[in-house]
Amino acid sequence: MIPLEDILQKAAADAHALSLEELERILSADEKDAERIFAAAYSLKVRCCGRKVAFRGLIEAGNVCVKDCLYCGIRRSNGKVARYRMDVEEIVRTAEVAHRLGYGSIVIQSGEIESAANSDFIEEVLLALRPLDLGITLSLGEQTEDVFRRWKDAGASRYLLRIETSSPRLYSALHPADHSWRRRVECLHALRRCGYQVGTGVMCALPGQTMADLARDVAFYAEVDADMIGMGPYIPHPDTPLGKDIVLDAADKARRLFLALKLIAATRLYLHDVNIAASTALQALAEDGRERGILAGANVIMPNVTDTCHRAEYALYAGKPGFDETAAAPRLAESLRAIGEEMEEGRGDSRHWANNVQNVESQGRR
Ligand code: SAH
Repeated sequence: MIPLEDILQKAAADAHALSLEELERILSADEKDAERIFAAAYSLKVRCCGRKVAFRGLIEAGNVCVKDCLYCGIRRSNGKVARYRMDVEEIVRTAEVAHRLGYGSIVIQSGEIESAANSDFIEEVLLALRPLDLGITLSLGEQTEDVFRRWKDAGASRYLLRIETSSPRLYSALHPADHSWRRRVECLHALRRCGYQVGTGVMCALPGQTMADLARDVAFYAEVDADMIGMGPYIPHPDTPLGKDIVLDAADKARRLFLALKLIAATRLYLHDVNIAASTALQALAEDGRERGILAGANVIMPNVTDTCHRAEYALYAGKPGFDETAAAPRLAESLRAIGEEMEEGRGDSRHWANNVQNVESQGRR
């Protein structure tokens, strides 16, 4: 067997250098090997992104959703959630909070709605946000290419659409029959054509998911040439078909967190210059989960700036942190400084995306 050190050296030298078997080996590593893997991924993160963390203020703009994903707390069939939708004014007010905290970017996320009225509404939101001059990421699910383009023209520059799993077989086990894995992939291509920085990602520790599936997830990111990756551990929600009767004990939580951190490291080692988020779900499993995500190779944190009055209603999974992150912002900055990191100024665009744009331009000049 090739020594781990050789695998890590090869990964650091070139992007896309590892085989699926080598990615699997990283994902299956024990605690001792994982320390070396995290160190290698973190040093690559520092090489690609510096000792900087990009902040995005996360706005959970609504929990009305047409989808019925078997794992998600805001699925259509969950009658126990009180549904809400922010209006334009509330979204702008929330974005101002992020702006005041010095975050160069926001993410507007919600359940999925596909309608002419909703497309108009988001366009109106984007136009109203213009004076704040923030980088804007949308995470509003599957839409037609026309709608993606309209929102891009209105001021959005990035779009986050997790593929959830790159395995069509596993995808169909986790979703009702009318949810299409293929359409999600097509949306990622449409987003690229519209000129977005394209983000995708998966959940790990899903029932029925293997290490080989996760290795292929990482390779999938390269296949769709993703600029940003948002991943996190699956955390059961009691009011969902997949999560009912499941309560995680401390050992389960630790295992999920450990796997999610190795997945971040594998992604950094394979893709090099992309933006990788240390997701809120990491923080749901351990208070310092996001900081550990950074030390495993992530470079983006998305503090929740949504008014705490909506938190209970945007419970995607059990135990989602609901505290006031706006008040906790100085503490987060402090804990990042403690690990030698600081907040990145500006919008924190994906370097992978910027490098691609530069390559296209210099080819045009030649
Ligand atoms: N409607 C948008 C995003 C809203 S949900 C879209 O379709 O893209 C955001 C993400 O939360 C999902 O992509 C999923 O990966 C994650 N999520 C949902 N349920 C979860 C659970 N039980 N545990 C962990 N993550 C979950």
